[in-house]
Amino acid sequence: MIIFKTKKEINNFLDKHRKAEQIIGFVPTMGALHAGHVSLIETCKGNSDLTVCSIFVNPTQFNDKNDFDNYPQTIEKDIHLLYEKGCDVLFLPSASELYPENELLESYNLGFLETILEGKYRPGHFQGVCQVVNRLLKIIKPHRLFMGQKDYQQCMVIRKLLDLINSTTNLIICPTVREESGLAKSSRNVRLANDDLQSATIIHQSLMFAKDNILKRPISEIENKMKADLLQNGFESIDYIAFCNSVSLNPILENSTKENVVVLIAATIKNVRLIDNLILN
Ligand code: AMP
Repeated sequence: MIIFKTKKEINNFLDKHRKAEQIIGFVPTMGALHAGHVSLIETCKGNSDLTVCSIFVNPTQFNDKNDFDNYPQTIEKDIHLLYEKGCDVLFLPSASELYPENELLESYNLGFLETILEGKYRPGHFQGVCQVVNRLLKIIKPHRLFMGQKDYQQCMVIRKLLDLINSTTNLIICPTVREESGLAKSSRNVRLANDDLQSATIIHQSLMFAKDNILKRPISEIENKMKADLLQNGFESIDYIAFCNSVSLNPILENSTKENVVVLIAATIKNVRLIDNLILN
């Protein structure tokens, strides 16, 4: 695995592979890698000639400075894991490399998508995600971009970004990797004690409850039961439990067998905010 820290060096290297008509696959991450990230690397390897991963904790997507300051960093371990999994190239830029002082931030017209769910509770978050992904895309110019369904709304935002910038990069959304308990793997899980990790499995159980009941009960009843279960199992607050159209993310108001539904949850346990989702049909 080759590690690059500057745009110029990685660009020179990738140019040779582009000229040789190799398919470049790209997995952007913020590090603290776990099995979820590894699954993206593996899918990328299976669908590309060259697998490029980036690790960059992107300051512009954190609306909470405390969250940014406490974001787990395990770079030595990450490098070792990527090497072991056969990643070809790791891009490790500094903040000044990706955000040079003379380059202004752009503004992306994400419309409705950034006014709901994560966009509502983390103002500016998706603008920050687009800033960094757009800059990384300009550098890596991948044929294929691999992202996790775990961050469902982020996938929809990136799909919109690719459209806005007329990109030819193909977005491939990979399934959420979970612990045996059902809890979605997340870099933030390391902040939770074992008991809380156990309690947090109620998120997945609630999503499964929604899946089992979507055609049997009114959405309001399912939602109330999910809320009560989360609060009874140690969650101190719930930002949202939302039933949405899986393509547009428009809210589903009542049981509609015609629409494809995704249910999305954001809730906080012991000061750690977790998100998860499940496609119901
Ligand atoms: P992050 O490092 O959290 O920014 O995540 C980098 C990529 O890994 C994103 O595309 C995430 O959606 C994806 N990812 C994070 N957790 C998981 C998971 N449990 N399963 C699959 N993909 C994941």
